[in-house]
Amino acid sequence: MPGTNGSHDHDHDHDHSHAHDGQHAHETQPVPLALQPYRGLTGSGAPFDGPVAIVGARLIDGSGADPVDDAVLVFEGERITATGHRDTVAIPRDAAILDAAGKTLLPGLIDCHVHFRGAWGYDLLRSLVTPPSLGTLYAVPNARATLEAGITTVRDAGGTPAAVKQAIDRGLFPGPRMLVAVSLLSQTGGHGDSFMPCCIDLRDNGPVDVPKGVVDGTDEMRHKVREILRAGADWIKLCTSGGVLSAADAPESAQFTVEEIAVAVYEAAAQDKRCMAHAQSTRGIKNALAAGIASIEHGIYLDDEAIQMMLDRGVYLVPTLVAPQDVIELAEARPGLLPAYAIEKARHVIDAHRASFRRAVQAGVKVAMGTDSGVGPHGGNARELGLMVEHGGMTPMQAIVATTRSAAELLRLDADLGTLAPGKYADLLMVDGDPLADVRVLADPARIAFVAKGGAAVRSTLTAAKRPVPTAAAH
Ligand SMILES: [Zn+2]
Repeated sequence: MPGTNGSHDHDHDHDHSHAHDGQHAHETQPVPLALQPYRGLTGSGAPFDGPVAIVGARLIDGSGADPVDDAVLVFEGERITATGHRDTVAIPRDAAILDAAGKTLLPGLIDCHVHFRGAWGYDLLRSLVTPPSLGTLYAVPNARATLEAGITTVRDAGGTPAAVKQAIDRGLFPGPRMLVAVSLLSQTGGHGDSFMPCCIDLRDNGPVDVPKGVVDGTDEMRHKVREILRAGADWIKLCTSGGVLSAADAPESAQFTVEEIAVAVYEAAAQDKRCMAHAQSTRGIKNALAAGIASIEHGIYLDDEAIQMMLDRGVYLVPTLVAPQDVIELAEARPGLLPAYAIEKARHVIDAHRASFRRAVQAGVKVAMGTDSGVGPHGGNARELGLMVEHGGMTPMQAIVATTRSAAELLRLDADLGTLAPGKYADLLMVDGDPLADVRVLADPARIAFVAKGGAAVRSTLTAAKRPVPTAAAH
């Protein structure tokens, strides 16, 4: 595909006239920074002409294995073809070379809990003056900001129609790979019920391809889950407890009965899908676990029994530590914006949330990274890793694995994503510096050197040389 790899049909030996003084520009030229623009309705096609070798980075493969210094990773088209120490990888003769010395190469990150639809941040007045289709169009910049931050896969935890995923897959605008929950199932008066105390339901005129998610009883649940799956959901999202931003409930409350949740689990499983539970209260967490959900979102009030149930059932915790912090920061930045109950609840849960997460990590509960972005700004997702280390006692490597391999396993994408190995998609993130020394470098936009999704460069500060640099294994 022309114009995308900076190394096409060019005789570098006769290109000195375009060289910049003092740079080895006869050997290199910039990789275009542009987002892969419209790439045709199939979204397919290799963005580089041939193989690409990333040479010299510290490589963290996402599996939890020790990093490999002075590594080489080769990809061609959408997939990785080779990876390992420079001495062990043969660089194809015709490969474009990306010099990555001093940088760290990781799998593209995976966020298991985002909300792409709508402008980020709670703003009741704004929601009243936003037409439904405008709300959906906000997914365009949200998806782009997320991808440019190195998040190459997300699970959208409700509110976003499947059309957003389809649009990204078709190349209409840039964004991460998506799995979508479409709707947010809630009991009447529960966390996902948008009926306000003034007796207006904010969802009455919501997007038609996001079914309203308020249900009570097993029969309604069965019908609604089938309706949401019909709307293209990959996951079913239920609220089994109250929450921070909802008006009429408490995080400590339980919502839905075990029977109601179990019907959702059954109907999802019948179509090879699984359920995720917004679950903050201890009872709500245990009800969700007893009914067979696959991931606990937030998990603010975990006790020993809940932790044991998660271990026994292999259920993942998606902590979203950054979410209550984002609520508080927004409240402080814009006084008067958030209702008092939301600020109060966010302040109230934050310590319990961190303590629960720490206990879960110590007990060995499986953790997959998620942020609830939409509550906070899109593209700031990797701040969560810093919090996982700071408040959860995770090592930087554990936080990275939770954001790569473990997240891919939760999403059942691990055959293709989550680790850097031959055959996997070339979903890549490269940063200046070493996230094992300070994981917060992953959240610093200035340090993001390269992002690729399926071998397509999303963002790059690197230069490409056509000719392989000498290596022991090149032949
Ligand atoms: Zn959420």
